[in-house]
Amino acid sequence: MLKFQELIRRDMDKLALNVTTEQGKTLKDAQGDVFRGLEVVEHACGMATLQMGEYVSDVSSGIDTYSIREPLGVCAGICPFNFPAMIPLWMFPVAVTCGNTFILKPSEKVPERVGCHNIGIFPGASVMLAELAMEAGLPEGVLNIVHGTHDIVNAICDDDDIKAISFVGSNVAGMHIYARAAAKGKRVQANMGAKNHAVVMPDASVDATVNALVAAGFGAAGQRCMALSTVVFVGDSKLWESKLVEHAKALKVNVGTEPDADLGPVISKQAKERIHRLIQSGVESGARLVLDGRNIVVPGYESGNFIGPTILSDVTANMECYKEEIFGPVLLLTEADNLEEAINIINENKYGNGASIFTTSGVAARKFQTEIEAGQVGINVPIPVPLPFFSFTGNKASFAGDLNFYGKAGVNFYTQIKTVTQQWKDSASKSKINLAMPTSQKSLDSYKSCSTIVLHP
Ligand code: NAD
Repeated sequence: MLKFQELIRRDMDKLALNVTTEQGKTLKDAQGDVFRGLEVVEHACGMATLQMGEYVSDVSSGIDTYSIREPLGVCAGICPFNFPAMIPLWMFPVAVTCGNTFILKPSEKVPERVGCHNIGIFPGASVMLAELAMEAGLPEGVLNIVHGTHDIVNAICDDDDIKAISFVGSNVAGMHIYARAAAKGKRVQANMGAKNHAVVMPDASVDATVNALVAAGFGAAGQRCMALSTVVFVGDSKLWESKLVEHAKALKVNVGTEPDADLGPVISKQAKERIHRLIQSGVESGARLVLDGRNIVVPGYESGNFIGPTILSDVTANMECYKEEIFGPVLLLTEADNLEEAINIINENKYGNGASIFTTSGVAARKFQTEIEAGQVGINVPIPVPLPFFSFTGNKASFAGDLNFYGKAGVNFYTQIKTVTQQWKDSASKSKINLAMPTSQKSLDSYKSCSTIVLHP
């Protein structure tokens, strides 16, 4: 892993360019994609202490018990399109460091079209990472990549040799995989869709907050599971709407390789059409379209899948655009009279990936932290994704499983705990057959006399 992280750093620009070419995000953002994955590789370098078991000597006379964590065997990972480098790196570095072999299924939506590998069309970032892992010395057969779509995924769920599946993607696919693989007795950790909210209190710092909202709402064209999708303005903070619109309007939509691009295209024509439909449904159900990015044209790329920053105001919880994850550069604005009401709005939403509050009040921040049901909470931080020594802790419909990705939970996910109880007796010592249930007491008699003394002094 130490060598692997060194090689990723060496090829950072190449990897980022590949991500931009295949996925469309800006180069700067693609570097972030690789870098956040690299953090997990670095985490794996120092993971040995997380694999340590526990030990208690003399649990009974001459008997010790200890636990060890063993690899599961073959594990698999099924990836989404939006982070072609980071999400594979969430998975296999942790899995192989725990001693497993790994089968990686990248997203079919990020195929390589440049052909630098000359063996056809396939998701390139995963293959480049696998090549680097082999260059770093990962033995042949430890990391395997299989390309494909639903049939391959179903085969992974059904295969008896595969013991655990890590999934990141939409709820439809995630819940299907969770149910199908669990029916085969597999472990599954599934990170899924989201609707991330930010509460803006009237006492928040205006400029810093508006900048944060724009960056979190439109960065990566909104195609991040932790992208901000809804702003809840509390009280007078709703007056900041025009400032928000002004900042969002100034963003530059362009091809990801252009240095001035703030956001690139969405992933496909179908995604673009779906996002347009959800914007329109918002308008038709009474939302105010205060910024419309649907008709944007990028010169030279007239048929590209571009959507400009879009803002819908006066959004209510019953609207389709609010209920559905949009996964595009669309920010929804809603209002609440007070913090209590804002928290209720967010908690009623089925998703629970992330939620943030912008305020200068410690009391408000603490109330929010305590009462909010999202799994990752930001206080004046718009995208609160922790470093990998904490796990990625989505909640409610944003996660299925018991053990989260990376961190302590990630190690527990990829290992089986075993407890060993040992006794070493001198061969000369006498032993008798004893059919009674073994207990930690030296003998039942001494236990009885002991309890007699305690209960009837
Ligand atoms: P997706 O669900 O369409 O695809 C993910 C993977 O599942 C792909 O490899 C695909 O081949 C497979 N798949 C899709 N439908 C399937 C089916 N019916 N049967 C079997 N396999 C199937 O997701 P996507 O569009 O690539 O990614 C976007 C989604 O991922 C969004 O919902 C986003 O919120 C989510 N996401 C979540 C996180 C997180 O950590 N919570 C991170 C990134 C992305």
